[in-house]
Amino acid sequence: SNPLSPLKRINEEIYSYAKIKQREIDELKKMEAFRREFLADVSHELKTPIFAAQGFVHTLLDGAVEDKSVRIKFLKKAAKSLDGLDILVHDLLTISQMETGEIKMHFEDFDVRELTEEIIEQFEEKAEKKKIKLSYTKAGKAPIYVHADFQRIYQVLTNLISNGIKYTKDEGMVEIDFEEGKHDVTIFVKDTGRGIPPEDLKRVFERFYRVEKSRSKEKGGTGLGLAIVKHIIEAHGSKVSVTSTVGKGSTFFFKLRKSDMEEIEVLRDDSPD
Ligand code: ADP
Repeated sequence: SNPLSPLKRINEEIYSYAKIKQREIDELKKMEAFRREFLADVSHELKTPIFAAQGFVHTLLDGAVEDKSVRIKFLKKAAKSLDGLDILVHDLLTISQMETGEIKMHFEDFDVRELTEEIIEQFEEKAEKKKIKLSYTKAGKAPIYVHADFQRIYQVLTNLISNGIKYTKDEGMVEIDFEEGKHDVTIFVKDTGRGIPPEDLKRVFERFYRVEKSRSKEKGGTGLGLAIVKHIIEAHGSKVSVTSTVGKGSTFFFKLRKSDMEEIEVLRDDSPD
């Protein structure tokens, strides 16, 4: 046989080993680039509220504190910036934990229609202020049991409904709808708001992405809401999507696994009356 063949084999092995290592290096480089970009984004986003609060506090120290009406006004503005900073840091922690896979999911069976009702109650005041009709389809109020992480789905619905209200003009509508399949349920959060241009549609789930940078920032968001939604839904092995028409409105939707009904029956039978 060919005396070169063992050598050739070794060569091939070295080659395939090198290829695996190269792939690992590429992966590490990608993670490193991601980290650097994330840090740059974060520093940039943190600067805004910090500079604002700093400005108000220093102006107060430079003498504005003597004037009572200015004093209250500036303190309120500084407080608002700091509150925003607090929310931002909280969202950042959530997202970094989700991106590094540090967050543990707690799956349980719960009625997602009841959860929706609770969240809607919390937003009623906000919606009323803008004369927005906030509703959800009751369909005989039959419960829809899903197998999911209660706290995180609470956050998903809160983020989507809050955006719906935020990006809808006065007298619009925000509606939550359910479409039940045999094994899953699709949840829709629909609004009659400003809509999202097609070129931005894919990117709204990226962290810190805002359609109209200054206008969206004015609305006080962190630019992290939808990125968090995407992470949470993906951690459920599902996907969140959006359809939208500029000037007409947007619909965000995602699928959740329904609970095993037999299990639910057992749970119910066991519950004390
Ligand atoms: P933000 O904190 O800015 O609201 P999000 O991650 O929740 O950040 O949303 C990202 C961007 O997507 C928003 O800045 C806004 O431009 C756009 N957006 C999100 N939800 C809607 C909606 N329901 N209607 C129109 N635009 C939306």
